[in-house]
Amino acid sequence: MGRSPPPSPLARDYGNHAYWALERAAPLRLSSIMASDRVDVLILGGGNAGFGVTVPAREAGLKVTLVEERDLGGTCPNRGCTPKKVLVAAGHALHEIERAHIHGIDVSRPCLDWAALIDREKEMIKAIPDSLAKTLDARGVELLRDHASSWAPTR
Ligand SMILES: Cc1cc2nc3c(=O)[nH]c(=O)nc-3n(C[C@H](O)[C@H](O)[C@H](O)COP(=O)(O)OP(=O)(O)OC[C@H]3O[C@@H](n4cnc5c(N)ncnc54)[C@H](O)[C@@H]3O)c2cc1C
Repeated sequence: MGRSPPPSPLARDYGNHAYWALERAAPLRLSSIMASDRVDVLILGGGNAGFGVTVPAREAGLKVTLVEERDLGGTCPNRGCTPKKVLVAAGHALHEIERAHIHGIDVSRPCLDWAALIDREKEMIKAIPDSLAKTLDARGVELLRDHASSWAPTR
Protein backbone atom coordinates (compact mmCIF):
# COMPACT_ATOMS: atom_id res chain seq x y z
CA MET A 1 0.00 0.00 0.00
CA GLY A 2 1.64 3.26 -1.12
CA ARG A 3 1.34 6.50 0.74
CA SER A 4 -0.69 9.23 -0.98
CA PRO A 5 1.55 12.00 -2.23
CA PRO A 6 1.16 15.27 -0.36
CA PRO A 7 -0.10 18.28 -2.33
CA SER A 8 2.67 20.19 -4.03
CA PRO A 9 2.53 23.75 -5.37
CA LEU A 10 4.66 22.55 -8.28
CA ALA A 11 2.07 19.99 -9.30
CA ARG A 12 -0.10 22.68 -10.88
CA ASP A 13 0.26 21.68 -14.52
CA TYR A 14 2.30 18.53 -14.47
CA GLY A 15 0.73 16.16 -11.94
CA ASN A 16 1.57 15.62 -8.33
CA HIS A 17 3.16 12.19 -8.43
CA ALA A 18 6.24 13.14 -10.42
CA TYR A 19 6.96 16.03 -8.11
CA TRP A 20 6.45 13.92 -5.06
CA ALA A 21 9.08 11.52 -6.36
CA LEU A 22 11.43 14.39 -7.15
CA GLU A 23 10.96 16.07 -3.82
CA ARG A 24 11.76 12.79 -2.11
CA ALA A 25 14.79 12.28 -4.33
CA ALA A 26 16.23 15.74 -3.81
CA PRO A 27 17.67 15.23 -0.30
CA LEU A 28 19.49 12.06 -1.36
CA ARG A 29 23.18 12.50 -1.98
CA LEU A 30 24.78 11.48 -5.24
CA SER A 31 28.25 10.00 -5.73
CA SER A 32 31.43 11.86 -4.91
CA ILE A 33 31.55 13.51 -8.35
CA MET A 34 28.57 15.71 -7.50
CA ALA A 35 29.62 19.12 -8.75
CA SER A 36 27.46 21.10 -6.36
CA ASP A 37 27.01 20.38 -2.69
CA ARG A 38 23.32 21.04 -2.79
CA VAL A 39 20.56 21.04 -5.40
CA ASP A 40 16.85 21.63 -5.02
CA VAL A 41 15.84 19.04 -7.60
CA LEU A 42 17.91 16.04 -8.64
CA ILE A 43 16.66 14.34 -11.80
CA LEU A 44 17.81 10.79 -12.47
CA GLY A 45 17.75 10.20 -16.23
CA GLY A 46 17.69 12.57 -19.18
CA GLY A 47 14.79 11.01 -21.08
CA ASN A 48 11.45 12.59 -21.92
CA ALA A 49 10.35 12.47 -18.29
CA GLY A 50 13.51 14.01 -16.88
CA PHE A 51 13.65 16.70 -19.56
CA GLY A 52 10.00 17.55 -19.06
CA VAL A 53 10.59 18.26 -15.40
CA THR A 54 13.45 20.68 -16.02
CA VAL A 55 11.15 23.39 -17.39
CA PRO A 56 8.75 23.86 -14.46
CA ALA A 57 11.52 23.24 -11.95
CA ARG A 58 13.65 26.03 -13.42
CA GLU A 59 10.62 28.26 -13.85
CA ALA A 60 10.05 27.81 -10.14
CA GLY A 61 13.57 29.14 -9.58
CA LEU A 62 14.93 25.83 -8.30
CA LYS A 63 18.51 24.69 -8.69
CA VAL A 64 18.35 21.60 -10.88
CA THR A 65 20.88 18.86 -11.61
CA LEU A 66 20.17 16.10 -14.12
CA VAL A 67 22.18 12.87 -14.16
CA GLU A 68 22.44 10.83 -17.36
CA GLU A 69 24.65 7.80 -17.85
CA ARG A 70 24.02 7.23 -21.55
CA ASP A 71 22.58 9.38 -24.38
CA LEU A 72 20.71 12.54 -23.49
CA GLY A 73 17.13 12.24 -24.67
CA GLY A 74 16.84 8.65 -23.46
CA THR A 75 14.89 6.01 -25.32
CA CYS A 76 12.55 8.11 -27.45
CA PRO A 77 14.96 10.01 -29.73
CA ASN A 78 17.87 7.57 -29.54
CA ARG A 79 16.37 4.08 -29.56
CA GLY A 80 12.58 4.43 -29.69
CA CYS A 81 10.13 6.85 -31.30
CA THR A 82 12.43 8.72 -33.69
CA PRO A 83 14.50 5.86 -35.19
CA LYS A 84 11.34 3.77 -35.37
CA LYS A 85 9.66 6.46 -37.49
CA VAL A 86 12.54 6.40 -39.98
CA LEU A 87 12.06 2.63 -40.40
CA VAL A 88 8.27 2.93 -40.60
CA ALA A 89 8.59 5.61 -43.28
CA ALA A 90 10.80 3.26 -45.32
CA GLY A 91 8.22 0.51 -44.88
CA HIS A 92 5.46 2.81 -46.12
CA ALA A 93 7.55 3.77 -49.15
CA LEU A 94 8.12 0.10 -50.02
CA HIS A 95 4.43 -0.61 -49.62
CA GLU A 96 3.44 2.28 -51.89
CA ILE A 97 5.90 1.16 -54.55
CA GLU A 98 4.57 -2.40 -54.40
CA ARG A 99 1.00 -1.26 -54.92
CA ALA A 100 1.79 1.40 -57.54
CA HIS A 101 0.46 -0.93 -60.26
CA ILE A 102 -3.04 -0.32 -58.84
CA HIS A 103 -2.73 3.23 -60.16
CA GLY A 104 -1.43 2.04 -63.53
CA ILE A 105 2.18 2.82 -62.59
CA ASP A 106 4.70 0.28 -63.75
CA VAL A 107 7.81 0.15 -61.54
CA SER A 108 10.42 -2.51 -61.14
CA ARG A 109 10.49 -4.61 -57.99
CA PRO A 110 11.91 -2.49 -55.11
CA CYS A 111 15.11 -3.58 -53.46
CA LEU A 112 15.82 -2.53 -49.87
CA ASP A 113 19.42 -1.72 -48.94
CA TRP A 114 19.11 -2.44 -45.23
CA ALA A 115 22.60 -1.12 -44.36
CA ALA A 116 21.86 2.17 -46.14
CA LEU A 117 18.56 2.50 -44.29
CA ILE A 118 20.22 1.95 -40.92
CA ASP A 119 22.91 4.50 -41.85
CA ARG A 120 20.15 6.99 -42.63
CA GLU A 121 18.44 6.21 -39.35
CA LYS A 122 21.66 6.81 -37.37
CA GLU A 123 22.40 9.97 -39.34
CA MET A 124 19.00 11.45 -38.52
CA ILE A 125 19.36 11.00 -34.77
CA LYS A 126 23.05 11.52 -34.15
CA ALA A 127 22.85 15.26 -33.43
CA ILE A 128 20.06 14.95 -30.88
CA PRO A 129 22.05 14.28 -27.67
CA ASP A 130 24.40 17.22 -28.25
CA SER A 131 21.48 19.45 -29.13
CA LEU A 132 19.74 18.46 -25.90
CA ALA A 133 22.90 19.19 -23.91
CA LYS A 134 22.75 22.74 -25.27
CA THR A 135 19.08 22.93 -24.33
CA LEU A 136 19.88 21.93 -20.76
CA ASP A 137 22.65 24.50 -20.63
CA ALA A 138 20.32 27.21 -21.90
CA ARG A 139 17.82 26.26 -19.20
CA GLY A 140 20.48 26.58 -16.54
CA VAL A 141 20.38 22.90 -15.63
CA GLU A 142 23.57 21.27 -14.39
CA LEU A 143 24.35 18.04 -16.24
CA LEU A 144 26.25 15.17 -14.67
CA ARG A 145 27.25 12.31 -16.92
CA ASP A 146 27.37 9.36 -14.60
CA HIS A 147 25.45 6.41 -13.24
CA ALA A 148 23.32 7.74 -10.40
CA SER A 149 22.73 5.76 -7.29
CA SER A 150 21.19 6.77 -4.02
CA TRP A 151 20.89 5.42 -0.55
CA ALA A 152 19.15 6.29 2.67
CA PRO A 153 21.44 7.05 5.64
CA THR A 154 19.31 4.89 7.94
CA ARG A 155 19.79 1.73 5.86
C1 LIG B 1 10.98 0.99 -30.11
C2 LIG B 1 10.21 2.06 -29.32
C3 LIG B 1 9.38 2.93 -29.99
C4 LIG B 1 8.65 3.90 -29.29
N1 LIG B 1 7.83 4.75 -29.98
C5 LIG B 1 7.12 5.67 -29.31
C6 LIG B 1 6.27 6.59 -30.02
O1 LIG B 1 6.18 6.56 -31.24
N2 LIG B 1 5.57 7.49 -29.30
C7 LIG B 1 5.66 7.54 -27.92
O2 LIG B 1 4.97 8.38 -27.31
N3 LIG B 1 6.47 6.72 -27.23
C8 LIG B 1 7.19 5.78 -27.90
N4 LIG B 1 8.01 4.94 -27.20
C9 LIG B 1 8.06 5.06 -25.76
C10 LIG B 1 9.01 6.19 -25.32
O3 LIG B 1 10.30 5.97 -25.87
C11 LIG B 1 9.06 6.19 -23.79
O4 LIG B 1 7.76 6.35 -23.30
C12 LIG B 1 9.91 7.31 -23.27
O5 LIG B 1 11.21 7.24 -23.82
C13 LIG B 1 9.98 7.22 -21.75
O6 LIG B 1 10.75 8.31 -21.30
P1 LIG B 1 11.45 8.24 -19.90
O7 LIG B 1 12.14 9.55 -19.69
O8 LIG B 1 10.48 7.80 -18.88
O9 LIG B 1 12.52 7.05 -19.99
P2 LIG B 1 13.78 6.91 -20.95
O10 LIG B 1 13.59 7.61 -22.25
O11 LIG B 1 14.11 5.45 -20.97
O12 LIG B 1 14.92 7.71 -20.19
C14 LIG B 1 15.52 7.22 -19.02
C15 LIG B 1 16.95 7.74 -19.02
O13 LIG B 1 17.50 7.51 -17.73
C16 LIG B 1 18.84 7.09 -17.87
N5 LIG B 1 19.15 6.36 -16.65
C17 LIG B 1 18.51 5.26 -16.17
N6 LIG B 1 19.04 4.90 -15.02
C18 LIG B 1 20.04 5.79 -14.75
C19 LIG B 1 20.97 5.93 -13.67
N7 LIG B 1 20.95 5.11 -12.62
N8 LIG B 1 21.85 6.95 -13.73
C20 LIG B 1 21.87 7.79 -14.77
N9 LIG B 1 21.01 7.72 -15.82
C21 LIG B 1 20.12 6.71 -15.79
C22 LIG B 1 18.84 6.24 -19.13
O14 LIG B 1 20.13 6.16 -19.69
C23 LIG B 1 17.87 7.02 -20.01
O15 LIG B 1 18.52 7.97 -20.82
C24 LIG B 1 8.77 3.98 -27.87
C25 LIG B 1 9.63 3.09 -27.19
C26 LIG B 1 10.35 2.15 -27.89
C27 LIG B 1 11.29 1.22 -27.13
